[in-house]
Amino acid sequence: MPELPEVETIKREIEPFIVGRKIEGIEIKDHRNIKGISPEQFKKKLIGQKFKGLTRQAKYMLFELASGNYLTIHLGMTGRLLFAPDKYVKIVFNLSGGKNLYFSDARLFGKIRFFEAMPNLKLGPEPLQKEFTVEYLKKIFSKRHSSIKVLLLDQKLLSGVGNIYANEALFRAGINPHRKASSLSEAEIKKMQHAIEEVLEEAIKYRGTSDSWYVDAKGEKGGFQLRLKVYGKKNQPCPKCGTTIKREAMGQRGTFFCGNCQK
Ligand SMILES: [Zn+2]
Repeated sequence: MPELPEVETIKREIEPFIVGRKIEGIEIKDHRNIKGISPEQFKKKLIGQKFKGLTRQAKYMLFELASGNYLTIHLGMTGRLLFAPDKYVKIVFNLSGGKNLYFSDARLFGKIRFFEAMPNLKLGPEPLQKEFTVEYLKKIFSKRHSSIKVLLLDQKLLSGVGNIYANEALFRAGINPHRKASSLSEAEIKKMQHAIEEVLEEAIKYRGTSDSWYVDAKGEKGGFQLRLKVYGKKNQPCPKCGTTIKREAMGQRGTFFCGNCQK
């Protein structure tokens, strides 16, 4: 599933490609990713509009149009935005200059929405913004007795941290995923904050993790899957101490950790 670094990678590729281009046509091969508006209205609202900018909030891409309208895309599990089509293309945006942007989605969990004005997505602070401080983490951890792992994935508290990077950040911070969030000391919260930022920045640098579906806009795999320490490493030796890495389900998500390094 594309998480923050993967969406950021795609956003950085697509932004220079679309800004200043006009939407000249839209081909809808399957309308089920379009939410809250009929396919006919979707076309009517968008054709003729020009892209002004592209920003990212957590796992959402926000396409700003010159009119002040917005288009948001969430890639879900298997969504892709591509410069060339693959076999799961659902929507084609025909852009000025003879270019196309393809939205592909094999499993149809992606969501595309149209807004008249900039939407409020009601997301919690995200790790690469200035609101993501030790103070903020202290505040959200202190009153909560759920496990730190489950809490890190709560998008209302912290947006953009998905399962892969939650596992990797906990390993880097040396914190056991089962720990109650409220039990973390100030020193551990500092380690946690640093580990989350570090792992996300590194993953963006390596253009995301391709563990299953994710490819960038050029259709190429990311590089961070080669740098994962625990995610997907069940029964393999811990890269720090050699202890066998465990996999457990927590909140229905695969949780990978070293019982020796993570206390
Ligand atoms: Zn270990």
